Amino acid sequence: MRYVIIGNSVAAVNACQGIRELDREGTITIISAENYYAYGRPLISYWLEGKTDSEKMPYQPVEFYQKNKINVLLGKKAVGLDVNRREVKLDDGSSLPYDRLLIATGGQAIVPPLTGLTAEDYFAFLTYDDVLRLARRASPGKEAVVLGAGPSGLKAMESLVTRGARVTLVELASRIWSPVLDREAAALITRFLEEQGVTVILQDTILGGRRNNEGRLELDLQSGRQLTCDILVVAIGVRPNTELLEKVAGVNLNRGVVVDEYLSIGLPGIYAAGDVVAGGPPLLPHAARQGRIAGRNMAGGREKYIAGPAYNALGFLGLHTISIGISAPEPEEGYEILAEKREEGRIYRKLVLDNNRLVGALFINEFDRAGLYRRLIEEQVDVTPFKDNLLQKGFGFLHLPGELWEGKLGE
Ligand SMILES: Cc1cc2nc3c(=O)[nH]c(=O)nc-3n(C[C@H](O)[C@H](O)[C@H](O)COP(=O)(O)OP(=O)(O)OC[C@H]3O[C@@H](n4cnc5c(N)ncnc54)[C@H](O)[C@@H]3O)c2cc1C
Repeated sequence: MRYVIIGNSVAAVNACQGIRELDREGTITIISAENYYAYGRPLISYWLEGKTDSEKMPYQPVEFYQKNKINVLLGKKAVGLDVNRREVKLDDGSSLPYDRLLIATGGQAIVPPLTGLTAEDYFAFLTYDDVLRLARRASPGKEAVVLGAGPSGLKAMESLVTRGARVTLVELASRIWSPVLDREAAALITRFLEEQGVTVILQDTILGGRRNNEGRLELDLQSGRQLTCDILVVAIGVRPNTELLEKVAGVNLNRGVVVDEYLSIGLPGIYAAGDVVAGGPPLLPHAARQGRIAGRNMAGGREKYIAGPAYNALGFLGLHTISIGISAPEPEEGYEILAEKREEGRIYRKLVLDNNRLVGALFINEFDRAGLYRRLIEEQVDVTPFKDNLLQKGFGFLHLPGELWEGKLGE
């Protein structure tokens, strides 16, 4: 069996593990547009901050590829797909035949139209190459503008502040990281960022700009405001990398490639996993689990992928957040909310319920029992008998009815 995997990150590596669990003999070839073996993508901000180094970046050691007999084609891009001949075309003109193919191409940075600016004028915040380039520019005293106050914009902001830059965050929505943070949490974190010297501009965006005579960037904002800076980072999100599939008949694209419950894209032998898959969320554990299951299914397994609630732990400048599932519903959506704020708003904990079942949670700076809340959400447990205790200090297994904690949740 010839396995070909396009992309070389979390989904790809886990797919190799899934394949090898069922097939020790088939050949595995990974096509990697980047010049590196898979690395921990979330580590790029720590690398830029000097908290980790190049040696600690690999997602798996090189021996992993040797041990599992995986052939990695670094610096090669898949540019075409012939599903009838079962061949992938590469950018060097060669073709690679496959029996089973995995699309694990992840996402690429979304860049809005920026009149007067070219790719040389801004940075994305997605790859190792992005931070290698950024490291040459980001030094103490530099002024940086980060467009987008979502998770990667916030991580970019943290790295730049840590390197001594003065940072302005520009966000189109009325609050930072709006899909995950409610108004309360966003206000709390915005206050914290401002105390760290970060300027936060909301309900505005960058339309374009120019380099002035000193080589600095002058940016025009939608509001009419102007900003002058040395560094511009564009971090408004990622778009699934589906170009390869755009002209292939029978593929269903809907902000990502649509897959069935076995992660097949509906064409013979072709599967997809990770951020390229429609429906998200674009998070590492989901890419890892999808990769593993897709790999096993490519090797003859028949496992269903059931998406759990999104789970994200993110910290910046000493502030920490954990969000699970639906963490920022609007009031009109009708969810029941239990929330508490302590220590002058430094600590915020919130639970979101629907018909007495937890569907989401948000924790800032205090995470006691986050794992237990996550299990209650995943298992869709009726919390009626212990709802009053849910946010109490010391809430734990002992508050749950015996049959629950002795059973599944106590495992
Ligand atoms: C700064 C940052 C911080 C993050 N922090 C977190 C976090 O705290 N928690 C969390 O859960 N997630 C986090 N993420 C998201 C997480 O990294 C992604 O969900 C995960 O990397 C997705 O893995 P993937 O394998 O689907 O694709 P990707 O990691 O996007 O990799 C896809 C690979 O495919 C390659 N490729 C694309 N097209 C082709 C082609 N045609 N030919 C060959 N190769 C191709 C790309 O070059 C890339 O190397 C973060 C991401 C970033 C950028």
